[in-house]
Amino acid sequence: MNRIKGKGTCIDCGRQLTKDEIALNKKLISLNLMEFRCLDCLCVSFGCDVEDLKIKIAEFKEQGCTLFI
Ligand SMILES: [Zn+2]
Repeated sequence: MNRIKGKGTCIDCGRQLTKDEIALNKKLISLNLMEFRCLDCLCVSFGCDVEDLKIKIAEFKEQGCTLFI
């Protein structure tokens, strides 16, 4: 039996994602995105620091972005 890959896990490392991480994926890449990455794997693909992504999340929350509620 194949296990269906859950929507809430990182496609690279399989780690369980938080709502914020999924929202950030959508915000930065595409609203229709079906594959998500955790902050660690995202920053590898973007070539930035995890801290940069955390700042982004905080900024989007401050802007009242509905994805992060
Ligand atoms: Zn990951």
